[in-house]
Amino acid sequence: MKLTRLFASLLICAPAMASQTWITNVKLVSPEKLDRIEAGSVLIENDRIVRVERGTGKAAPKGAVRVDGKGYYLTPGLIDSHVHLFAVPGMSFEQSEHMQDMANAYFTQMPRSYLYYGYTTVIDLAAGSREFIDRVKAMPLHPDIYDCGTPLVIANGYPSAFIAPVKRYQMFTNFIYDPAQKDKIPAEYKPEDYTPAKGVARVKADHAICLKTHYERGFGSQRNLPVMSPAMYAEVRELARQAGLVMVTHGNSLESQTFAVNGDVEVLAHGMWHWGALNNSKELPDEVKQLLDKVIEKKIGYQPTMQVLYGLRAYVDPDYLNSPALAKLLPPAMLAWLKTPEGNWFKEEVAEEGETDEAVRQGMEAPLRRQRQVLAYLASKNANFLFATDTPSSPTYGNIPGLNGYLEMQNLRSAGLSLEQIFKAATINNARSFHLDKDLGTIEPGKVANLVLMKESPLKDVRAYDTIDTVWVRGKPAARDSLAAGQ
Ligand SMILES: [Zn+2]
Repeated sequence: MKLTRLFASLLICAPAMASQTWITNVKLVSPEKLDRIEAGSVLIENDRIVRVERGTGKAAPKGAVRVDGKGYYLTPGLIDSHVHLFAVPGMSFEQSEHMQDMANAYFTQMPRSYLYYGYTTVIDLAAGSREFIDRVKAMPLHPDIYDCGTPLVIANGYPSAFIAPVKRYQMFTNFIYDPAQKDKIPAEYKPEDYTPAKGVARVKADHAICLKTHYERGFGSQRNLPVMSPAMYAEVRELARQAGLVMVTHGNSLESQTFAVNGDVEVLAHGMWHWGALNNSKELPDEVKQLLDKVIEKKIGYQPTMQVLYGLRAYVDPDYLNSPALAKLLPPAMLAWLKTPEGNWFKEEVAEEGETDEAVRQGMEAPLRRQRQVLAYLASKNANFLFATDTPSSPTYGNIPGLNGYLEMQNLRSAGLSLEQIFKAATINNARSFHLDKDLGTIEPGKVANLVLMKESPLKDVRAYDTIDTVWVRGKPAARDSLAAGQ
């Protein structure tokens, strides 16, 4: 009796046993030491890396679970700094509301699909619904999620203008009142509640790490949209600085990127595929070069997001929906639906009426060429590339979580980025630019144990990113196969 009580009290007083994992016999690939890729071992305690040993022959610490890395390559978890978790690829918001079972099955798999391709951290640049983000965070396996909260838009500007006015103000709750548009803003919204200061404060209060803004005059049915003035942008920029929010601006044209760079943006959310009056220039124009030189000089984070255009092109790629990877990443019923005429509804937005698939592909060549030329120039001067897919950038089925990242890496490679630039973009550059490098981006003691074990070296071939064996999220391992749909 006495003894039992003694044991009971011992159990209560003893500190919780730390769980330790010793990953050994691996080649360490960490961005701060790319000149020293050699065999080593990593000790994880609970959710952190506590020791990193280079060299072989070190014994596993007593009590640690030993994991044999089989001579494979261990990298920090990959970071995708531009995603939209709430949107279902291939579906409009109305469709995902109507087909709730399919959408829910998709959302259950979605965080696992990111992990399947090694993305252990994602940054949602337009997290309209805190409730939804919390729902994903409550799932048993998911990447670390950071976000920019609700985007700060100018009244009736991009992207809110694409939503019907009756719904616009409910979906884009954080907007800046523009006195010049007094007649177009419902009277219930008072100017004093929608100032830049109130807007930035709302994002800060929502625990965001960044602030998403836009400079976009529009396209398709919505052109000549209102945009911020330089003075308004400067005010927002200063408020973001004071609040410690990373300032991110959407813009994919020479005009918009010039505006943002002159306004001291920290992260440009897209590559540049529109050169305005210079669109037909075959060579990279001097005006573009001069702007890109400023991007390099100011170390502005540059998110190429080439999959925005390739994601549209998927609708005229007869093989896309048969990619074996899609069956691993999407619930079977959803993949089957995407192959029906109804599931192809978005093709109407991609192709003009009567336009052949070949003509659509041809039409995309010029913007893709411009984008590649910009990236090649930035790569030649080692710009601060941030790996970012913009998944999904539209209701396209061409932007599926996980696979979209792998495709983007191949695009970046063919645009002229080196394997080292791609690797850094997806690890340390993203971590630094979003002020997460205390926890993420390298394999070093003290950092969060987000790790990826690959059979091949990501510095030898971009295809290494499709040879993942195991992913650790905050110290918890998941075999890649177990992350596939239907597992
Ligand atoms: Zn986006």
